[in-house]
Amino acid sequence: MPIYSYIAEKPEEGCVRCKKGFDLRRPISRPALTHCPLCRKPVIKLVTSFSTPKITKPLSVSDAKAAGFTVLEKRIDGNYERL
Ligand SMILES: [Zn+2]
Repeated sequence: MPIYSYIAEKPEEGCVRCKKGFDLRRPISRPALTHCPLCRKPVIKLVTSFSTPKITKPLSVSDAKAAGFTVLEKRIDGNYERL
């Protein structure tokens, strides 16, 4: 049975369960969860497979930096500025 990872669409509005994300074991035939079972806020699905490593998509520049990414922004002059 696959394990799905969900996190609140707006983590700052989520409850203790969904603001940091949670895993849910769910039959593949069931439709994807769209709302937190606890607080009913919208959630987004992160991972659909149990064999691949967790890759969470950074939601913003600060999230990307927190995850260790170097964020580059292309400037008008063609150079990249490190944010
Ligand atoms: Zn919640």
